[in-house]
Amino acid sequence: MIDRLVVFGGTGDLTGRYLLPGLAALRARGHLSDGFELVGASREDWNDEQFRSWATDWLEREAAGVDANTTSTLVRSSRYQRLDLGDPARVTACLAGEGPVAVYLALPPAVFPIAVSALHQAGLPAESQVILEKPFGEDLESARALNRLLAQLADERHVFRVDHFLAMTTVQNVLGTRLANRVLEPIWNSAHIDEVEIIWEESLALEGRAGYYDHVGALKDMLQNHLLQVLCLVAMEPPITLGERDLRDRKVDVLRSVRPLEDDDVATRTRRARYRAGRAGDRDIPAYAEEDGVTPEHRTETFAEVALELDSWRWPDTTFRLRTGKAMRQDRKEVVVHFRPVPHLPFEHPAGPLSNRLRFKLEPEGLTLELTGSGPSVSSTLVPLTLDAEMVPPELPAYGRILLDVLTGNSALSIRADEAEEAWRVLTPVVDGWSRDLAPLQEYDAGSDGPSRR
Ligand code: NDP
Repeated sequence: MIDRLVVFGGTGDLTGRYLLPGLAALRARGHLSDGFELVGASREDWNDEQFRSWATDWLEREAAGVDANTTSTLVRSSRYQRLDLGDPARVTACLAGEGPVAVYLALPPAVFPIAVSALHQAGLPAESQVILEKPFGEDLESARALNRLLAQLADERHVFRVDHFLAMTTVQNVLGTRLANRVLEPIWNSAHIDEVEIIWEESLALEGRAGYYDHVGALKDMLQNHLLQVLCLVAMEPPITLGERDLRDRKVDVLRSVRPLEDDDVATRTRRARYRAGRAGDRDIPAYAEEDGVTPEHRTETFAEVALELDSWRWPDTTFRLRTGKAMRQDRKEVVVHFRPVPHLPFEHPAGPLSNRLRFKLEPEGLTLELTGSGPSVSSTLVPLTLDAEMVPPELPAYGRILLDVLTGNSALSIRADEAEEAWRVLTPVVDGWSRDLAPLQEYDAGSDGPSRR
């Protein structure tokens, strides 16, 4: 197990909000060795004490459930290193120590190639790991170029491309429910499933993240990575094991099977929009175009939807609709599996809903099966039956799981190089088509259910 974690971008939001609480959870459950060391590195001119005080503040806010002794042990095991990626001596100083190290690039994506080259120049100790956050590249070409750089730096088994959705218990539950029960797998195909919706809609608006988001937008921020990963788990063939090769081979099969989108498909099967001013709950939300730091001419979308089809034996006739949006009426984060209607309904004049859906609720967690039963008059009244399953709370937060995998060298949940490129292949026609306005940029009121269907 590696016991040194160096975070480039160690003073950023990701480090404070997720990596430190993830480490605290690992420390609390005894997963970190006594000799574990955390090195935070960024361009800030800080000393160790400033970094420790900053880390303590974040841990008080984001890891309130972990006892103070544990968090202070973690903080004491940290140090700070000023980083200049153009100065090999500074990069080497970050890596100083015995044995392999895990280097987490919690940096703006544009800096990934510079950081990888700097590490290459500095020389990584043998058996070290490199971890990259999403988005991995900004298009197929840049993802390929980054993969080539990484291949010079380290063997693929030491490269971790993070998609924290894969480490969410609720997302993993899609696989557990599918593969550990006899009842679902026989009907898990186009003969029985009409449509699958993969939805991540949030009531939160931009929340001051224009510097990043305005260059990226909903498609590249959420759909190209997180939602495509969920699609893989929903649609994959059962893997032989959940080991890194089997699991990732089956996921890549799904991405490879996505039918390429032609111009007509971009026009009819995708939607993009950005929010106008509106009210969500008790909050007034300004129009996206008027948020601080936004350049309206970027025409960045805050809502994206893409309906995909898979060319495979299992899924010839099922639509997979992936949708994400900001400043929506409510948080709605779920996978909804819509079963087809029964072939024959022996009721005279059935009244009421005919629901037949399975919902994997991703946040907050839950699993709901919506069926239809008969009401007081068996011949004509149908009633909804809803079965809610309770889920076991996760042992580790998603970033705790990711960091544990990194430190122990388990790459099953990391995105493989070919997978990262396939994900871009799927959505490149959408990026290109939107740049040519094949789908208009619609508008929706903040606090609404999104743009109208075209
Ligand atoms: P922030 O802007 O909050 O932090 C970026 C960090 O990188 C800072 O520590 C910054 O410090 C450092 N940095 C920036 N440029 C350089 C440079 N040239 N050399 C050295 N250090 C640099 O971003 P986030 O923490 O939000 O995001 C980091 C990564 O994590 C991104 O790839 C993002 O997409 C991803 N991510 C973020 C999530 C989040 O909720 N925050 C969620 C999922 C992924 P300084 O400027 O002082 O050098």
